[in-house]
Amino acid sequence: FCLVIKGGQLALPSKEMLQWLPAPTGESIAIVAGWLTFQALLQLAGPGRLVEGPRLRDGTRLLYRMNGWFAWCVTLAALAAGAGRQFFPPAVLAEKAGALLATANIAAFLIGIALYAGRGLLGARDERVSDSVVCNFWLGAALNPRIGSFDLKLFFESRPGLMAWVALDVAFACRQHELYGFVSAPMMLVCGFHFWYVVDYFWHEEAILTTWDVKHENFGWMLCWGDLVWVPFIYTVQAYYLIDHAHSLSASAMAALIVLNVIGYVVFRGANIQKHRFRNDPRRPIWGRPPRIIDVQGGSALLASGWWGLSRHMNYLGDLLMALSWSLCCGFGSPLPYFHPAYLAVLLIHRERRDHRMCAAQYGEAWKAYCATVRYRIVPGLY
Ligand code: NDP
Repeated sequence: FCLVIKGGQLALPSKEMLQWLPAPTGESIAIVAGWLTFQALLQLAGPGRLVEGPRLRDGTRLLYRMNGWFAWCVTLAALAAGAGRQFFPPAVLAEKAGALLATANIAAFLIGIALYAGRGLLGARDERVSDSVVCNFWLGAALNPRIGSFDLKLFFESRPGLMAWVALDVAFACRQHELYGFVSAPMMLVCGFHFWYVVDYFWHEEAILTTWDVKHENFGWMLCWGDLVWVPFIYTVQAYYLIDHAHSLSASAMAALIVLNVIGYVVFRGANIQKHRFRNDPRRPIWGRPPRIIDVQGGSALLASGWWGLSRHMNYLGDLLMALSWSLCCGFGSPLPYFHPAYLAVLLIHRERRDHRMCAAQYGEAWKAYCATVRYRIVPGLY
């Protein structure tokens, strides 16, 4: 509503807003269903290495087929071929963004209900059911619901939402071209930064196996809705905003934005991959030196050097810097493009607190020692 009707300005909820709410159409249902089916087939049948996931509470480890890179390349090729032959012009997605958003919402709720109703049946090992129906629906009732070897969390976390994010960005850039005959420099920057974020994810797909989401978060409505609705439709707000705000940027402003994004990326990817490698091989050198390790009673360990020696979540800081660079591309005409870094800051600060509580319970004295060694939660010297 803010983007389409109010020209990118914020608006308070109103009757007009309710009247405007888009409804799904036959076409939007076909696009969402086709997209989910296409991505599911790629995950099921695409070639890729089988990798062991984290150790579960019963001591076993699930196998994951890492074929995200393959799926990503096939998806890009399919979208390019569809666009080239005018079979599926990208700007179509821009025209139908409202109906697609409504459809994705309904799909996420239906899947959330199916996950709840099918708990215990979906081949999930390591069930973690609470006494609360709301909690079980919202947060999910199982850590790893699966249909055979098809891992639902891995699928929704990475495939349909992340790829739709890029597809929608491209659609919005094409829409700008259709309307004004050019694609502005800020639009190219935003789409390029987002594209890089997603390419990087698929290139390092395996690193998701040691993240909080895979190791500790159940898969239920919350993650599913986040993956299917929030990521593709909120992360593209900046690109949508830029369709009709085709300002220019000086060369020095563009260079500064690229530098900020690159710094964010280096911190984000560096920290995430360092922890992933540490979890697989705790003796692997960190920045050319033996890692500083805090041993945990019972066999595990915590890394207290490299990025993980600067703050306890440098990966969150990197993510925030990147999000800020994307918003700054949009200028200062409206607060709307800044919603993304603002919400991300709230999410990551809250997430760090949750992770802190969980690690304190899991690692006891070792976590206390780690926190005494690495005092800052996210931003070294500040927070
Ligand atoms: P992390 O990848 O940081 O994972 C946290 C887990 O890492 C902890 O539970 C613990 O698990 C382990 N860990 C923590 N400290 C140490 C240490 N010192 N040494 C070794 N292991 C440690 O968190 P997230 O999964 O939250 O985030 C992953 C990435 O995803 C981040 O870059 C984040 O910014 C991004 N993200 C982005 C979101 C978005 O909307 N854009 C949303 C959420 C995340 P264990 O000990 O069990 O291994």
